[in-house]
Amino acid sequence: MTQGTAAQQATATAPTQASASPPAPIDLLVVHGRLVTMDPQRRIVEDGAVAVDGATIRAVGRTTEVAPHFTPRRVVDAGGGLVTPGFVNAHQHATGGPLVWSCIPDNLPAGATIFQWAVPLHDAEQPSDETLSSRIVAAQCLRSGTTTLVEPGTVGHPDAVAAGLLDSGIRATVGVWGWDIEEGPFAAPAAEVLARVAAVLDAYPPGGRVEGWVTLVGHSLASDELLAGAADLARRRGVGMTMHLSPTSSDPDVYLERFGERPAVHLERLGVLGRHLLLGHGVWLDDREVDAVLRTETALAYCPWAYLRLGQGVTGHGRHAEIVRRGGRVALGCDSTTAGDTVDLLRTAALAAGLAKDQRVDATWFGAHEALEMATIGGAEALGMADRIGSLEPGKLADLVVFDPSSTHFASPADPALALVWATDGRHVRHVAVGGRLVVEDGRCTTVDEVALRQEAADASRALMARAGLRPAVRWPVVADG
Ligand SMILES: [Zn+2]
Repeated sequence: MTQGTAAQQATATAPTQASASPPAPIDLLVVHGRLVTMDPQRRIVEDGAVAVDGATIRAVGRTTEVAPHFTPRRVVDAGGGLVTPGFVNAHQHATGGPLVWSCIPDNLPAGATIFQWAVPLHDAEQPSDETLSSRIVAAQCLRSGTTTLVEPGTVGHPDAVAAGLLDSGIRATVGVWGWDIEEGPFAAPAAEVLARVAAVLDAYPPGGRVEGWVTLVGHSLASDELLAGAADLARRRGVGMTMHLSPTSSDPDVYLERFGERPAVHLERLGVLGRHLLLGHGVWLDDREVDAVLRTETALAYCPWAYLRLGQGVTGHGRHAEIVRRGGRVALGCDSTTAGDTVDLLRTAALAAGLAKDQRVDATWFGAHEALEMATIGGAEALGMADRIGSLEPGKLADLVVFDPSSTHFASPADPALALVWATDGRHVRHVAVGGRLVVEDGRCTTVDEVALRQEAADASRALMARAGLRPAVRWPVVADG
C-alpha cells in the first residue's frame, strides 16, 4: 500500500461534520505525528493527528484533515515523532521484586531464585511494600510505553497492589493467589481460594481501569477441583483468567506422574482451556499441547527475558512464534523484576523476533512486524480487550505513546516497526496517555513523584531485606568507607 493511499483511507476515519459545522470541543489533540495505527490495515499515517475526548479516541487521520474539526483543551505536538498505541504487558508481577531490583544473582540453580528469594520476600512484604512496588513497576512501565499490564496475582494484599496501580494511572488487571496442593502460606481448600478470588472480582469489576481477574499460581499447585472451579468462575463473571504453566520441564514431569498426561492435555480434558484463559509461559509444550492451545483459542503470555535469565530452555523448546503464525493468541510479558528484570516491552519484542529467527535459522518467517503486533493489537486480543485497546482507532480508549522525534534513530524514512523493535527501546518514549490522561510528559511521570518514589524505595528495600533475612549479593569486591 502506498503512503498516499494509506493517508486517504485514514482520513475516512476523521469526523464527518460538514465543514461549516462549528469545531467540537475535545480534551486532547495530538498533532504532527507519524501514526502507527495498528488498525486492521496496519496503516501508517504521515503527519497524523489523534483527537481524544474524555477517555476515547474520536478521530484519527491527517493533521490537516482532523484538526479543523476540533477545539482541544490541550494540544500535544508530536513534532514528527512516531505515535503508537500503548503497549500491552501480559505478565508483569508488581510485587515480590521491585524493592530488590537486580539484587538476585543470575547464576543460581533452578528453583533457588524462588525459594531463596521470592518466597521469603513475599512472606516479609507488608501492604505498604506492595503498594510501593506496584507504583514503581507501573511508573517504569508507563515511561517505557506500556499502558496495560496483567498483574498475574499477588500472594498477600491485592487491595494494596490495586491501590498502587490505580495511583499511577496505568490500566491493569489484578488478582490474588492461592493453592490447594502442598502446604505453605495461603494454602487452603479450593472453595476458600475461590472465595478469595471472587472477592477481588467484586471489588474491581470489569470495565474499570483496574479490573479483577481470576488468578491462580498454577504450575502443579492446584487440584482439578480448583482449576475447574476457577475456569467456571471466569466464564460466569465474563472476566479473564491467568495462571502459570510449563516455563520449564517441571510441570510436565509432575503432570505425567500424577495423571499420565501432559499439563495442557489434562487442562483441556477438565474444560479449563478456552478464550478466557491466558497461560503464563507455555514454553515446554509438545505437539498435542500446542494443538490443544490452538483448538481452544487459549492465549499465552510469552516472557522471553525471564526464560533466558533463568536458563529455562526457550531457545530449544519455545514455540510461541509458531503458535502466532498458526493463528494463535500470544502476548508479550516481562514477568517479574526478579526474573527478566526489565519491564521494557520493546526490548522484549526485539528478543521475541530475534529468538524466532534464530531458532529456525531463518530470517524470513517472523520479525519486527509480528513482534510489534504482539506488543499492541495482538496482545490486546490475547487479553480479550481488543475491542477497547491495542490500536489507534475511533471509539477505542485513548491509550497512546508519542516517541521522541529528536533522536537520530528517527532521522531516516524508516519502517516504523523496524525502528521500534530493532533500533530503539522504551527510553525513547516522550509522552504517554492512558484513557486520554497524560501520565507521562517529556519523559517524566505526571502521576508519581519519581524523586520521592526513589527515596521511599531505597528505605523500604533495606527494611524489607532485613525482615526477610536477605543480603544483597554483589559478586565482585566492593570498596566503601568503613
Ligand atoms: Zn509469573
